[in-house]
Formats: sequence, structure tokens, C-alpha cells
Amino acid sequence: MNAQPVYLDYAATTPVDPRVAEVMARHLTLDGTFANPASRSHMAGWLAEQAVESARRRVSDLIGADPREIVWTSGATEADNLALIGYMRANRARGTHLITSAIEHKAVLDSATALEREGFEVTRLTPRSDGSIDPRHLADALREDTVLVSLMAVNNELGSINDLAALGAICAEHGVAFHVDAAQAAGRVSLDVGTLPIDLLSLSAHKAYGPKGIGALFVRRGVRLEALIHGGGHERGMRSGTLATHQIVGMGEAISLIEQQCDSDMRHVRALSERFCHGLNALDGVWINAAQGERVPHILNIGCEGVDGESLLMALRGLAVSTGSACNSASVDPSYVLTGIGVPRDRALASIRFSFGRFTTENDIDRALNELGQALGSLRQRESA
Ligand SMILES: *Cc1c(COP(=O)(O)O)cnc(C)c1O
Repeated sequence: MNAQPVYLDYAATTPVDPRVAEVMARHLTLDGTFANPASRSHMAGWLAEQAVESARRRVSDLIGADPREIVWTSGATEADNLALIGYMRANRARGTHLITSAIEHKAVLDSATALEREGFEVTRLTPRSDGSIDPRHLADALREDTVLVSLMAVNNELGSINDLAALGAICAEHGVAFHVDAAQAAGRVSLDVGTLPIDLLSLSAHKAYGPKGIGALFVRRGVRLEALIHGGGHERGMRSGTLATHQIVGMGEAISLIEQQCDSDMRHVRALSERFCHGLNALDGVWINAAQGERVPHILNIGCEGVDGESLLMALRGLAVSTGSACNSASVDPSYVLTGIGVPRDRALASIRFSFGRFTTENDIDRALNELGQALGSLRQRESA
């Protein structure tokens, strides 16, 4: 009966909404809208272009941007690379200093390290213990030669939320561009670039019930970037390559659904989160990391006294959950995000992340709590034996 593990790893990736899969399937085969959107010589090409531009409008609508400010990429990783490396290279004459934080996604952190090898300077802010960046801390780190600040909207391991309005205001006041990695934030927090002083913003479809392999970078009008991928000059020269029509319409549909459903999606995960936390309270020696600040309800990073996270994952055979970010699951180092907010190494190693979403049921939550309780019981018994 319960052969399928309960999927509680929505922060790593979400399943594609069946409505999205259906739209994508209509953009692949001969009877569908499969043509190259850059083909100008036939109707099939124009129809594909129309589909791409309609999706672009749906993505720009979510964040209150103009469709011409959206650049398609292969995902948030590429969008982060283009934002950081593309912006720093294009604006080198104005300054060479970048500010980010110690708990960003590797797509940002590794881009920053690559920039250091090119002679740029990087400051990595230490977050508060709740995972958020103190705006005063950012203000103190600004220098004469700072040209870009890159901070995430929602942390993928903790669920913590940054105050984008306050952080962006400091950047704007000092004439510094502000990049936001919003891969985890679409439909969860406001990303209205009409009111928020954000210049660059990365999105990913597969964290929002769309397909993997597609994302977008919002580039505010007037912001200059140096392209990283050269070719036919697609996307106004910022990102060459034949547009992946089926991926793009999938992202457009997913983002549109997220916008329509955000209230009911949020109510759903909030109720599940309360149910889960209520159940956790009944277990001994379990805590929630970074619980005290502003958080999204569907990502819960929990620590379990006296157990090792890797062993706990192995014991939770009926659950698909993870320790920290998926990109680090090959190593046994504690999560740099947890140590980055000051969680001691042993407590970080005893932590795992649960994340849920649109298709998670109350029954899934109950099964997770049940398994967790049993696993903790047997692991601790083994430990004390
Ligand atoms: C998933 C994720 C990324 C990477 O997105 P891809 O589309 O998988 O490249 C970047 N930043 C954050 C915060 C993420 O959660």
C-alpha cells in the first residue's frame, strides 16, 4: 500500500503540475507548436514565438515587470551566474566590489569565487541566527567601489525570508545594483519589482511546479550585463541559444498557476506546517532551526538530539527528505548554511530538511511524523545500547 515514499523534498524540486505537463506536451510534436521561435519565414515559427512571448508576459506579470525585462535561462543557476558575472564584468569601470552572504545558494557563492579569480573583491555577510541579513550590517559593508549586492529572497535550507524592501532601499540609496535569487520565493513572498528596488532577479521553474532546465533573469531596463553565452544574439544579446519552447510555455503556465493559486497554496501548506509542528512538539529532543524569524511555512529544517542526520535519513526509508541542500548530499560536512547561522557542528550534523507543497496531504504529514518518531526511537536506543 505505502510502497511509494512520501515526497517531502519540495525545496529540492517540485513535481510538475499535470496542467503544466499537458501544456508542454502540446509544444513538442509535429501536430503541436514545436517550431523554432526564431524562424521568421513561416507560420509555425510565428506561432512558437507567440507562445514564448505569452509565457514571457506571464512571468513578467508575477513580478510586475515589463516582458522585455525577462531573459530566459536554463534555470536559476544560470540566471545567478549571468547576474553576478555578467553585471560585474560589464560594470568593472565603476567598481570591483560585490557583497553577498555566507548562506547563499552555491550558484551565487561559486560565481562570487569565480569573480575573485578574475580580480574582483567579495564580501560575504554573516546572517543573523534566524537566517536573515541585518540591513544595518549591509549598510556597514558598502564601500566606494561596491557595484552589486546579491542576497536571496527565501533561503532554500531554512525557509528564512529576507526583508527585500529594507535591503533594496539601502542599495538604491547608495546607487548600488541589487540582485535577488528568488528561486524559492515565487508565489510565497511578494516580488513586485514595481515597488521593490530590485535590479536583477533570478527565477526557476522547477521550484514552482514547472519543469527543470528553465528559468529566467529579470533585468531592469537600463541595467547592463555582459553575456556569458554567445551565439545568435537571442534575448537581446544577453543569452544566445534556440529558445526551448516547451520548457518556456511550461514555466509560463506554472508561474501563472502559482500566481492564481498562491492564496490557496499558502493556506494549504500553512495548515500542513501547523500539523507537522504540532506533531514534532510531541517528540523528545527535536527542534526547528532558524525558527524565530520570518519564514515560509513549507520549509522546516529540524534537528534531532543524539542522532546523526545521515543515519536518520537512512532510517527514514519511507520518506524522501534531505540533509541541507541536495548539492551537498555527497559530502558529510555539516551544512554551510546551518554553520553559517551559528548552529554548532554537532547540531548541524543532526539536522534534516522537510519541505512540502501543493500535492502534500495530511496523510503524508502523519506518515512522516510516525516514521520520524519510530526512527528516532530506534536510533537513540541503538546509541545508548
Ligand atoms: C534551486 C535553487 C537554485 C538553482 O536553480 P536551478 O533552476 O536548479 O538551477 C538557485 N538558488 C536557489 C535559492 C535555489 O533554491
